[in-house]
Amino acid sequence: MKHELIYEKLEKFNIKGLGPKTLEYLSLLGINTLFALLYNFPRGYQDRENVKNIEDVEEGDVVSIRGRVLRASVLKLKNGRSIFKAHIGDDTEVIDVSWFQSPYLRGVIKVGQDINLFGKVTFNRGLSMTNPEYYFDDSKNRILPIYSLTKGLSNNGMSKILESAISFSNIFPEIIPEEIIKKYKIMNRQEALREIHFPTSSKKLEDARRRFSIEELLILQFAILSRKNFLEERSYSLENNKELVSKYLKKLPFELTSAQKRVITEIYKEIKDGKVVNRLIQGDVGSGKSVVVFTLLMYLVANNYQGAMMAPTEVVAEQHYLSIKDICEELGVKVVLIKGSMKVKEKRSLLEDISLGRANIVIGTHALLYDKVQFNSLGLVVIDEQHKFGVNQRKLLKDKGHIANTITMSATPIPRSLALTIYGDLDVSIIDELPPGRKAIDSEVIISSTLDILFTKIEKRILNGEQCYIVCPLIDDSEKVSFHSVDSIYTILQKRELKGVNIGIMHGRLKSNEKEEVMSKFKSGEINILVATTVIEVGVDVSNATIMVILNADRFGLAQLHQIRGRVGRGNKQSTCYLVSSTQCDRLDILAETNDGFKIAEEDLKLRKPGEILGMKQSGFSDLRFVDLLKDIKSIKLARDEAISYLKKHKGKIENEMLRWELDKRFHDITVMN
Ligand code: ADP
Ligand code: MG
Repeated sequence: MKHELIYEKLEKFNIKGLGPKTLEYLSLLGINTLFALLYNFPRGYQDRENVKNIEDVEEGDVVSIRGRVLRASVLKLKNGRSIFKAHIGDDTEVIDVSWFQSPYLRGVIKVGQDINLFGKVTFNRGLSMTNPEYYFDDSKNRILPIYSLTKGLSNNGMSKILESAISFSNIFPEIIPEEIIKKYKIMNRQEALREIHFPTSSKKLEDARRRFSIEELLILQFAILSRKNFLEERSYSLENNKELVSKYLKKLPFELTSAQKRVITEIYKEIKDGKVVNRLIQGDVGSGKSVVVFTLLMYLVANNYQGAMMAPTEVVAEQHYLSIKDICEELGVKVVLIKGSMKVKEKRSLLEDISLGRANIVIGTHALLYDKVQFNSLGLVVIDEQHKFGVNQRKLLKDKGHIANTITMSATPIPRSLALTIYGDLDVSIIDELPPGRKAIDSEVIISSTLDILFTKIEKRILNGEQCYIVCPLIDDSEKVSFHSVDSIYTILQKRELKGVNIGIMHGRLKSNEKEEVMSKFKSGEINILVATTVIEVGVDVSNATIMVILNADRFGLAQLHQIRGRVGRGNKQSTCYLVSSTQCDRLDILAETNDGFKIAEEDLKLRKPGEILGMKQSGFSDLRFVDLLKDIKSIKLARDEAISYLKKHKGKIENEMLRWELDKRFHDITVMN
């Protein structure tokens, strides 16, 4: 098939200058196919397009000049070396040119000849050039490509290979849909390939670059969007029945922040108008996302719909359940918690409540998606800390026969441009305000800690009634790395035998009822220090906990550390986070400097590639070369809008064969988090 042709091995094409050695060098650069060769764009260009008059050049310029050889001679030096000297003049001025150790030039550069020079201008008793490139062919006075190279391969060599290979650009089928090409007057693929390697003018080069950046974004957006269900239209509109909502809000021990109110109103309006809600709520840790969605769940319940809330872990599911259970009881709303560890009989009766519509709100982990849960009238699905799920939940829901409103919540602040890219059609609401009275967490980076001193400090505060988390990268010391483990830290603390201080442990290997017990003891204050793995990373909310110690902090990413740190600072007391690292780690300073999750996320992105952050290394997010996901928000939006309108117009079908083929090939294993 012709689309596959461009991904054929280089050997299959008759390209000049491609011997076995060269193929090997190219392979070192990751270039094995025709596609990879032609898409190995120059990293820069040498602009020889503008030939300057000699009188206009200045010291330090890198220029092209064109003139006639007026004098030429070889100067012999005492040490046996030689210099070939020439005077080159145009209509305006004369310049001295020297080439070292090149006596043979006498036979090449002759008086009376016209010549082109390219090089740096120096000043040496007058303007001069030393060892400039020279050529007689005027057509070389153009924009020349500069490639990334490897040992064994010169820029000249690479250019020669591409000069021959570029003739195959005509087997590259257009990959951007025709209508978009026309609308934006985009340079076609074949011309753009030629222009990006061998620009005929700076304008054309610009057009070629523009084309490839649009191509890059469009492919990405099509990959994301073609797996979404944005073509779904309408769900149902609701009565304006808000009584239950006001009752619920009255029972809360606090006022909603204005950011919370704004987001509620935003989504409430969409539901009311019968739009299928597909929205991401972003809010920094502790910004109070849960209350927002519970309010919306109440609204659905008042209108005889069921709601489901999926938490990232059982601990968090349990916590959500406990946080609304009492209020729900008072309001006559039935909320149920589904747990993995439930007895069959108990579970069966819950499932029946759900399928008969007797249960109004269902809380569980994402296992709810796979479980045999059948809803009676599912109206809203909430997915908490959605970045923790890698699967296409929306699709799973749809497969269950539900096209429900979906709200995902994330405390991983993603810069807006990136959110648009990865979430494609997802609307985003941002809670950009913390509840009043919160004190910024103090963070301290501790290098090569003397844990003893730290523990003594902490114990003092514990005896004053505060509580502490200690997070370790490992559960026990079985793995052959020398990181702190929950077991070893627990043992160390136990040995300190501090009266009145109870220590608990928490990690993924505990049974779910053990986890529950530990959490409820920590919540009630019976446990003072909780030694844990990152299972407590998301969602856990104990406002009396004010001290966070993260051991081997350098092992974690910035965004993750910010998440973990967010377990403290949830009440009105001053909290402290100790980032303990055995080695100097500059990265951690960012956390000490700011509590702003968005800033931290941007720093994180600068340090790592977006694909890595999203856990999708191979997905095409990692190898963007024209687009900066942090900056090019406008073009991202444009590509997204175009892809959406194309898919809508073509009822989800991609007509361009090359594009369809490419998406299949490159993105078949992408699971978009939606
Ligand atoms: P997150 O956004 O991190 O999921 P939560 O929803 O868990 O945050 O809320 C964090 C804590 O803040 C909870 O204890 C919650 O009861 C409390 N909270 C939420 N909204 C407010 C508010 N408007 N005023 C005071 N406290 C609030
Ligand atoms: Mg939460």
